[in-house]
Amino acid sequence: MPVRERFYSRTVRRANGCLEWIGFRKASGHGMTSLNGKTMHASRAAFVLETQTELTTEQHVLHTCDNPACVEIGHLYVGDNKQNVSDKIARGRARTPTGAANNRTVLTEAQIEEIRSRRARGETLREISVKVGCSPNYAGQVARGMFRAGPPYVRSEYAAARAEQRARAGATQTTEVTPLPGEEWRASKFEGYTVSNLGRVIGRQGFVLKQSTSPTDPRPVVGIGGTPVRVHVIVCEAFHGPRPPGQEAAHFDGNPANNRSDNLRWATRLDNENDKKRHGTYYGRGLRKLTAKDAKSIRSELAKGKRGIIARLAEKYGVSRGAIVSIRDGKTWISVVND
Ligand SMILES: [Zn+2]
Repeated sequence: MPVRERFYSRTVRRANGCLEWIGFRKASGHGMTSLNGKTMHASRAAFVLETQTELTTEQHVLHTCDNPACVEIGHLYVGDNKQNVSDKIARGRARTPTGAANNRTVLTEAQIEEIRSRRARGETLREISVKVGCSPNYAGQVARGMFRAGPPYVRSEYAAARAEQRARAGATQTTEVTPLPGEEWRASKFEGYTVSNLGRVIGRQGFVLKQSTSPTDPRPVVGIGGTPVRVHVIVCEAFHGPRPPGQEAAHFDGNPANNRSDNLRWATRLDNENDKKRHGTYYGRGLRKLTAKDAKSIRSELAKGKRGIIARLAEKYGVSRGAIVSIRDGKTWISVVND
């Protein structure tokens, strides 16, 4: 297929005159494609295709219509990055989807409504939190209108357009991935992403996604729309149903790398923390400041038993003295042994 024809086969005309890209799109809404062997925004590719001009890296293709997915040549112009940023702020486009339109939102619009009506009837925040499945603090903030006050900012008709496109092509997406023995695939809540009972994730392009971990969090993530998403959570959702309010995805065997569906379940935070204590993978609540390597060095420093060492270590690692004592007494970082 000629380049131009192929390019426009992946677009759809909107009532407002925009020509929207329905191929791969980033979380920001920008279409992505390749032209002359280079990956670029679809809008940039449209500009190059239509005008046959070479653009420098400083030149950005911007939208008069404020629709990042649009590739209508009449809606595109060339500007620099500074202009792009100021246009973005001026048009209030520097925002992410909110409320139910954001796929990380936990409470539904109905639950938000329930919090407000219960509060209006004079129920206590604690009562409400138990009924709805959120913290009393969050219930209070929702009731006061601090969060979820406006209508959710909804994404474009992207999802519908993609479904249309697939239906037109009559395509059940085929992948090149060979299933492992006993592997079963299910759709995840992210459109175009499939997860397996063995903890693998297939992306929109039909390939198994690379999983990574960070030094402070051993739970593997995959990148979805530019955001790291925890694998155990999407596997749990696909195989054990949506997350019950206030619960988290827990590993039966305490091994964060074992994301087989039969090793996962929805559990309360308390359950999960008790599990972790049993498995020796409990590192305390909240964000971990220390890495396993830190805990090791702290233990070996402590073993030398110098005066004032607890205060010095607390200062050095930016944690409380209690945190150092817990490591010494084996209450935290139990699994980290000095070798
Ligand atoms: Zn447009």
